Amino acid sequence: MATKIKKIRRNVTLTLWEQSYVPEILRGMYITLEHFFINLWGLILEFAWSGREDRKIATVYYPEESVTPPPAYRGRPVLVLGADGNEKCVACGLCEAACPPQCISIIGAERANGERYPLRYTLDGTRCIFCGRCEEACPKEAIVMSDDWRNLCEYDRSKMIYEKADLLVPEEKLAGRLAFIRDKAFGKDRY
Ligand code: SF4
Ligand code: SF4
Repeated sequence: MATKIKKIRRNVTLTLWEQSYVPEILRGMYITLEHFFINLWGLILEFAWSGREDRKIATVYYPEESVTPPPAYRGRPVLVLGADGNEKCVACGLCEAACPPQCISIIGAERANGERYPLRYTLDGTRCIFCGRCEEACPKEAIVMSDDWRNLCEYDRSKMIYEKADLLVPEEKLAGRLAFIRDKAFGKDRY
């Protein structure tokens, strides 16, 4: 994608009117008032006609309303549960090594058929910085940044130490993010 170059006129000579800053102050006030009245009108319509979907107001009335973040959003990191009912993780430890605040810890084991899996996978949500390095490091698409923004806070920090069972999410629920990271890997920058 071609980069748009924006030229900055540094040595421009301002007129006396421009030097007074009055036009810029008026322009700023116009923009502020425009948003104010759009939002006010949206609020009036909302009260007058509850449930109006084409309102201009930007406020989301959570929890009655919700937002769906785009696939590029980095919410709570989760482990992918494959269609066969097993975690995709093979306990290689790459995410653990890549995590800057070192919030992942893994104890690996082997199944009877020789496949490796994480006997224990712990992610300390109090330290996670949502950088996505774990997702980038994983060779198995086994850990991804989900769109979960609701379950990021707790009153009790101990509830933010996530064990494997807390982290596992079925693959089909993560389809959007998995498609996004595959596109990214193949250089298709969709967002
Ligand atoms: S998102 Fe970043 S900080 Fe959070 S677990 Fe992954 S690598 Fe660690
Ligand atoms: S990098 Fe992926 S496969 Fe390796 S331990 Fe982490 S989640 Fe599991």
